[in-house]
Amino acid sequence: MRPDILNPLFIEAATLDGVGPKMQKPLDKLGLSRVRDIAYHLPERFVTRRAVHNLDEASVGEQVVVALTPTQHKASSGRGPYRVLAQDEIGNICSITYFGRASYTAKKLLPVGEKRWIAGRIDQYGQMLQITHPDHVVADSADTLTRLCEPVYALSEGLTQPRISGLVAQALERLPELPEWIEKGQFNAEQWPDWRDALKLAHLGEHESARERLAYDELLANSLALLLVRADNRQRKGQPLIGDGHLRAKLELPYTLTGAQSRSVDEIEGDLAQDTPMLRLLQGDVGAGKTVVALKAMLIAAEAGKQAALLAPTEILARQHFETLRAMARPTGVEVALLTGRDKGKARESILMGLLDGSIDIVVGTHAIFQDSVAYRDLGLVVIDEQHRFGVAQRIMLTNKGKSTPHTLAMTATPIPRTLTLAQYGEMDVSRLDEMPPGRQPIDTRVVAQERLDDVVSAVERHIASGQQAYWVCPMVRENETEDIAAAEARYAGLKERFGDDVVLVHGQLKPELKDAAMERFAGGYAKVLVATTVIEVGVDVPSATLMIIEQAERFGLAQLHQLRGRVGRGSEKSVCLLVRGGALSETGRERLALMRETQDGFRLAEEDLRLRGGGELLGTRQSGDAPFRIATLEQITRLLPKAHDDAKILLERDGGLAGSRGEAARILLYLFERDWGVQMLRGG
Ligand code: ADP
Ligand code: MG
Repeated sequence: MRPDILNPLFIEAATLDGVGPKMQKPLDKLGLSRVRDIAYHLPERFVTRRAVHNLDEASVGEQVVVALTPTQHKASSGRGPYRVLAQDEIGNICSITYFGRASYTAKKLLPVGEKRWIAGRIDQYGQMLQITHPDHVVADSADTLTRLCEPVYALSEGLTQPRISGLVAQALERLPELPEWIEKGQFNAEQWPDWRDALKLAHLGEHESARERLAYDELLANSLALLLVRADNRQRKGQPLIGDGHLRAKLELPYTLTGAQSRSVDEIEGDLAQDTPMLRLLQGDVGAGKTVVALKAMLIAAEAGKQAALLAPTEILARQHFETLRAMARPTGVEVALLTGRDKGKARESILMGLLDGSIDIVVGTHAIFQDSVAYRDLGLVVIDEQHRFGVAQRIMLTNKGKSTPHTLAMTATPIPRTLTLAQYGEMDVSRLDEMPPGRQPIDTRVVAQERLDDVVSAVERHIASGQQAYWVCPMVRENETEDIAAAEARYAGLKERFGDDVVLVHGQLKPELKDAAMERFAGGYAKVLVATTVIEVGVDVPSATLMIIEQAERFGLAQLHQLRGRVGRGSEKSVCLLVRGGALSETGRERLALMRETQDGFRLAEEDLRLRGGGELLGTRQSGDAPFRIATLEQITRLLPKAHDDAKILLERDGGLAGSRGEAARILLYLFERDWGVQMLRGG
């Protein structure tokens, strides 16, 4: 149960003054559903303005506050802006410019002949100075002078800076006083403000130590929770799985395992033989060959007479894993089944029966395999593919499925830097596939301008004429799936005119049967071009596809581009990746694409991705169950995390039940950052 003291923070944001139904959506979009979220919606930056007496004192590009008197209103015909010409105290003329439907505002705020204090940025417009959409227009200078330093918040459509500032102010009013969870010695040495002051200060200006403390809180909460999970796991009783190798001996793999694969299998086998449940992460770049390692682990479970379940994040991937694993496992005679949310009626019943009576050894599926209605005879091992798509909380839920705690193998291709491995997976042991299967050729990566799309289409034509296959990934329109799909459908229609039935389309909202049919036609080599939204980002494995086209590649993050590109270059044929770039390329966009051309090293790309994007989105967790850090920046994570981790360790060594006074405070911290699954571990243990 959440401590009562936190209740005011977890009340819905809708209870704040001024939050009507119209504001709900923009707030939701920013993930600001409760008072807590709003209090933690820290400014992205601050504007500092200089108060100037007249425009001669200001320079172009500068943020200022200046007194101006409107002399004339000029509505333009057509789509032009609405201008208010205004004069400073020494007669300089400046245009205060409004675009869109702001003329009403302008008329009201800027009556001719009446002096106003205006805060905004000075631009040059032809011969004239201009302030476009001023931040503030007030009649009383005192009102503006308090605004010389102002926070700038991330917004979504329908929100304005004053609006969000107003909400933040209300949220800050409601902050309770919380006991200190930071260790006394450190608290004093760092001279950090206490929690409540830190939050308030962080909204007021560039208060380094406040920001630092808030980041530390977040990191500490995370480390504590992960360590609690780990401690809980250590106490649990699992079942040792000891395989005699008779099933593995029957495998007929067309290749030998790489050293890294064999080592990982050994590490897993060692863990499975213990009665403490395994908690291991298998980390390996795209194409490193994680699937076969998972298969070996699952066969060990089967040899020991237990069942194994493999969880995949998408339907497509589940189906593909099922096909691959079933084919690979055929000589062993183990029974492999597929269960997804889509299976209904008799088919589903029979799979459920098989899981219950133990005739199914290995089940592959989406989260449907862990629904309440699904019971296992004896589940010994859970494998989670693309772990980064799920959250820790979800994982814990899954492992509560067996009679005793099953062993867990989590797999991820997100090549994250080491510090961050600690942050995200601090509770797990790690096996690394740091070696690629032999014979892979580097992927020839090129950047092509959108204007040359015709050439790209011709390249596809030549490619399929030579009997090979291609992926065509459509632009990711900002956060909007419907638009993504529209773009993919349009591209599909266009390519179909040229290539006819050789083209298939896959996206997230396609009817399941159609999606399967398309994937099957492509995987079977009947279709030559697969047009897709980013649904193919993870896992899909069609080794004979050797051309990857990514439209508006600059919109993707590096980690994502790397994942997408990883769909080709899986066989021994030479592969090509064409990154089609849109017109306006930002500096970061340019850098990203250049890096993609330069390297294929997932770790390097992940690190650069971080550097280019900053902390928040890193880890490839944008779509995942729990984005780990919202407050701490990359720089803070790197610098503060090891300390927070050690701190958490020491605290738990001294007070494993979090029962002492600092322990109590730490529980509050866990709830505050919603790592309460960590606290639940305490109650369980
Ligand atoms: P990922 O780690 O991305 O999940 P997969 O398991 O899908 O990678 O494997 C990628 C491809 O590499 C597959 O086509 C698989 O058959 C092949 N592969 C895996 N291990 C080896 C190996 N040791 N030698 C050669 N090919 C391998
Ligand atoms: Mg995979």
